[in-house]
Amino acid sequence: MIFTTRFAPSPTGPLHLGHAYSALLAHDMARAAGGRFLLRIEDTDTGRTRPEWEALIFEDLRWLGLAWEEPVLRQSEHLPRYGAALARLARAGLLYPCSCSRSDIRAALAAPQEGVPAGPAYPGTCRGRSMADRRPGDALRLDMARALEHVAGHPPPTYRESGPFGPGVHEVSPDELLISVGDPVLARKEIGTPAYVLAATVDDAHQGISHVIRGADLIPTTALQRLLQTLLGLPTPQYHHHRLIRDESGRRLAKRDDARAIAAWRADGASPVDIRERVGLGRG
Ligand code: GLU
Repeated sequence: MIFTTRFAPSPTGPLHLGHAYSALLAHDMARAAGGRFLLRIEDTDTGRTRPEWEALIFEDLRWLGLAWEEPVLRQSEHLPRYGAALARLARAGLLYPCSCSRSDIRAALAAPQEGVPAGPAYPGTCRGRSMADRRPGDALRLDMARALEHVAGHPPPTYRESGPFGPGVHEVSPDELLISVGDPVLARKEIGTPAYVLAATVDDAHQGISHVIRGADLIPTTALQRLLQTLLGLPTPQYHHHRLIRDESGRRLAKRDDARAIAAWRADGASPVDIRERVGLGRG
């Protein structure tokens, strides 16, 4: 299988040094392996996505000297593909509609209930509601306990990691999924919009991604994505979670730190080589 990787930004703000590192690293690794580098625009969060951020992504990446295969996959143009994956999970009885707001969830978690184990990210208020009862404005959640029952009997899901944080084969633990992940949202309350975790899993398979190269902030998401691959009958890529780029005070860079945007470095007269050096990559 030809080495195929991708950079998958969400156009919800300017790219910063952390994104530049991720994109350059994926691009360099693909080139070193004689493989393919793809670009995917993860724009299903309709409330936060802006066309001007997408245009700036293309501009920044071209300025950095990156080239990718065309056409670029823009997720908002492929909603039926994610809908089909959701329908498959729904047919297996693994989804339920949820009308809880963030504050409902906080309140339920703050008031311990009998029979609800401590820790899960979602307290299960809507669990047990049927799909036939989905109302406009409801999200869809995966019933994690049922999903784990569904895969029981299969060999435990594993994935291969080649990044600096625990390289090797990782086994996905049902306890970690039940307690740390809980019942994740797979479709947002805006009907037809999948959650990132689902759309990215479906598209990594759709695009034939052999290596997912991304920041270590996404390590906790990998167990859930691995489970979704089993539930949806999709192949598992290898993962390479890279170190995060931090500012002088050791904080991880975030999109809101506009001063760190690639566009700001460009405006200040930095060169693409300066950016490579700043993130600790060679001249390329
Ligand atoms: N769209 C995600 C982000 O910008 C990246 C997802 C991934 O690489 O799997 O954080």
